[in-house]
Amino acid sequence: MSTTLAALPSVTLERLRRCPALELVTPGDPDFDEARMAWNRAHEHYPLAVAIPTSVEGVVEVVDTAREAGLSVAIQATGHAPTRTADGAILLDISRLRDVRIDTAAWRATVGGGAKWQAVLDAALPHGLAPLLGSTPDVGVVGYLLGGGVGWLLRRYGTAADVVRRFELVTADGRIVEASPEEDPELFWALRGAGAGHLGVVTEVEFELFPVTELYAGNLFYPASMAVEVMRRWRDWVPDVPESLTSSVVLMNYPPFEQVPAEVRGQSFAIVRGAHVGATEEAERLLAYWREWRPPLLDRFGTMPFGRIAEVSQDPTDPLPGVSTGLWLRGLSDGTIDQLVATTIPAGGPPRFIFSEVKHTARERPGAPGSVSALTQAGATMMLELVALTPTPADQAAVHAVTAHLRQAIAADLTGRLYLNFLEGEERRSGVEAAIGPEALQRLASVKARLDPGHRFDHGLDVLR
Ligand SMILES: Cc1cc2nc3c(=O)[nH]c(=O)nc-3n(C[C@H](O)[C@H](O)[C@H](O)COP(=O)(O)OP(=O)(O)OC[C@H]3O[C@@H](n4cnc5c(N)ncnc54)[C@H](O)[C@@H]3O)c2cc1C
Repeated sequence: MSTTLAALPSVTLERLRRCPALELVTPGDPDFDEARMAWNRAHEHYPLAVAIPTSVEGVVEVVDTAREAGLSVAIQATGHAPTRTADGAILLDISRLRDVRIDTAAWRATVGGGAKWQAVLDAALPHGLAPLLGSTPDVGVVGYLLGGGVGWLLRRYGTAADVVRRFELVTADGRIVEASPEEDPELFWALRGAGAGHLGVVTEVEFELFPVTELYAGNLFYPASMAVEVMRRWRDWVPDVPESLTSSVVLMNYPPFEQVPAEVRGQSFAIVRGAHVGATEEAERLLAYWREWRPPLLDRFGTMPFGRIAEVSQDPTDPLPGVSTGLWLRGLSDGTIDQLVATTIPAGGPPRFIFSEVKHTARERPGAPGSVSALTQAGATMMLELVALTPTPADQAAVHAVTAHLRQAIAADLTGRLYLNFLEGEERRSGVEAAIGPEALQRLASVKARLDPGHRFDHGLDVLR
């Protein structure tokens, strides 16, 4: 470890060590380096201690102890989206609160604040029910919901935040409170789309499940040389595609890593990707638009059980250092397509980005009224996600510079709103206003001022400074 760490005051240390409802890992402990890591290795926490509660009582004890010691608390489930690192703070690792209960009659799941989506899949699928997870079951349920949650059932059922019914939260003053349409609706509004890490510790969430057991899903791979053609054809196609299909077009540079399947390793493609819920005949009729046009190099679209949904995007599960951005689009002009292709698959140079993906997000009912998540989508029909691997700070800076340039070049197609879930680090921390707009920020700031005036939770989204 390269940094000298400050220590917890001894009275604080003793109090936390005595609590039976948590495990404490401090500098010098053999597992400290592992405990303080985030999944996204571009960000490194140097906390005073890592506290790992095993129950809600443990969470309350961490928050109370931190408050009395004048320390801030950084909340982490997996570290897929670190915001401000936990330096000089207590890192509250919520991952042990991972119980999942399924109400098969009401089609609901009640999930602990640190569970990953895979645990929900495992519990719900045997009952013929599916959650609105995103591209990977490896991210935290709550972290994903708090940023909105755009997955492969988006056009059919909405964002994951749209279908939350209730949160349980430990507040900065150590109370256990509920947020629902009946109980503190302002907090409920804020948590559904702009709640990550700054309002309190979510210890439980209840949300709806859907009767989906099978998808027609996957990828059609076209050569990178056809990228412009494929993107234009996709753009012209999606306005007429029913809500049973959520699709995207991806410009992909597969890295030359062993973990990448040999048939695509080290190569670039233009990919039509998606998932359809409903009759196979309808899905095949929709896909004929592509298959009858030009046969793809690889056709990996077909029927699959819902439990294999991770195969659609094939996201990495091993920790990586990365930078990502999410931008809502009102359209996809020829000019924007040219810019995306030139930036993602540059002629004659190594690519900066692993991929850029434009997802079709237009819906007849755009979001549950009364959630922040609905607000961020205002005026958008699509979303652009950019992802780069950034092993060094210099790589991060270079990617940020290319992204800034690209954003200027495609400004006419941007709604101006960011998608918080696809941001990390400083852009995520300071990006709240750009994500939700100035009026909603005021509203969010008054929730923050009421619940956490002392900035106990000062490592998530930044709404008051
Ligand atoms: C490979 C990959 C694929 C992804 N795919 C999608 C996708 O398809 N759709 C989509 O919408 N997003 C997607 N995301 C984004 C992902 O949803 C966000 O990164 C999300 O915030 C991750 O949550 P986490 O808990 O796993 O990460 P963490 O870094 O642990 O948490 C993220 C944020 O949420 C806060 N938080 C976590 N748990 C709690 C809690 N219990 N109480 C209070 N605050 C909490 C943390 O403080 C932090 O600010 C993807 C990200 C990655 C890396």
